[in-house]
Amino acid sequence: MTGQAGPAARAGAADIRIRDGRIAEIAAGLAPLPGERVLDATGCVVYPGWINTHHHLFQNLLKAVPAGINADLQAWLAAVPYPRLAAFTPEVLRAAVRLGMAELLLSGTTTCADHHYLYHHGHGAETGDLLFDVAEEMGLRLVLCRGGAIQSAADHPGMSKTALVPETLDEMVADIERLKARYHDPAGDAMRRVAVAPTTPTFSLPPAMLRELAEFGRGLGLRLHTHLSETDNYVRFCREKYRCTPVEFVGEHGWLGPDVWFAHLVTLSPDEIRMLAATDTGMAHCPVSNARLGSGVAPVRALADAGVRISLGVDGVASNESGSMVNEANFAWLVHRAVGGAAQTTVEEVIHWGTAGGAAVLDLPRIGTLAPGQSADLAIYDLKGLRFHGFHDLAAAPVAAGEPTPVRHVFVRGRQVVQDGAIVGLDLEQLRREAYDAMQVLQRIAA
Ligand SMILES: [Zn+2]
Repeated sequence: MTGQAGPAARAGAADIRIRDGRIAEIAAGLAPLPGERVLDATGCVVYPGWINTHHHLFQNLLKAVPAGINADLQAWLAAVPYPRLAAFTPEVLRAAVRLGMAELLLSGTTTCADHHYLYHHGHGAETGDLLFDVAEEMGLRLVLCRGGAIQSAADHPGMSKTALVPETLDEMVADIERLKARYHDPAGDAMRRVAVAPTTPTFSLPPAMLRELAEFGRGLGLRLHTHLSETDNYVRFCREKYRCTPVEFVGEHGWLGPDVWFAHLVTLSPDEIRMLAATDTGMAHCPVSNARLGSGVAPVRALADAGVRISLGVDGVASNESGSMVNEANFAWLVHRAVGGAAQTTVEEVIHWGTAGGAAVLDLPRIGTLAPGQSADLAIYDLKGLRFHGFHDLAAAPVAAGEPTPVRHVFVRGRQVVQDGAIVGLDLEQLRREAYDAMQVLQRIAA
């Protein structure tokens, strides 16, 4: 599969030559050149590495918290992440991030936009460094969406339950400037990017600061990301408080445009869909999390038909229980056909959303498709197991059959990061110990 839309979605049986981190050639019957290593992918299919455009890596140690397992979004926020915001010491966060990145890589995900919002007054400067450090160690391409809230502690629904105080706009801005200077690379195949991403535009900061942050981000050449319209609550809140819809609200504050992408967009009016399309605003579609929290099914067919750029995100695994983009793609394919009929989407389109669509939303044009000149970001799935016998179309198998689809090799910019199903250089026993220790801390905190 190439990640491209339409008839170009399939490359057929072919060899891929990688040189200097890029795809040099794709053709049947390529002969190895002197010094080249040959990897036999017989019985495998090759996808572009998946691009996950909305995640919360810290949540990898908060799966299936009993108080939140059957809750809706508001009850889940109150029961799962909010009571544990202060528990994420650097050690606990590192264990969660390592686990999360390992899970992503083992599903064939090579790029992750992590919406990280564990920041509070006087704390957090080391957090971005930690995330980039672990991404470098694992070989994952990371877009750090620098989140957080700016408000009085009494107003913030999560922090008001803890001793934490939200940071000031100056603190947030100073950290983003530092991160930008140290890590941000504008290149089309960058391994490190920074985005401006207050956690929720309607709840996380005063409206005037929304515009200020947008102008600040754009001044630095950074993209803008946040949650929007995940549930009906956003619509109710905006209508009651601002007398407009959520998309109108963010539009009035500078948060629409080709450099903006929103997670969720579940509850939208036809006018909002038109506004998103007219401004070329992008979307991170998170169907599993939306289903898991009972939020609904986003109108992706209508958005895509209107011309909105669609990508896929697994969202935090505290509201998903799987950090696999294969699982996300499988569910996206199924749920839209279940709800809206067989014309809603295709296997090929879902792959396009999860690969080239992600590249378009993140403005990383050198990733997301398999073609000469593109970055060598490859997920190679091993389909020799019994589960895949009988498939007439093995190329569709990962999306059509979902998990478990074993990944055999993964390359990111030509660097092999998964070999024979194992993450290169990762001490699994050590990771298990770290995760176990961190869980002891988190389980002591009752919701
Ligand atoms: Zn989210």
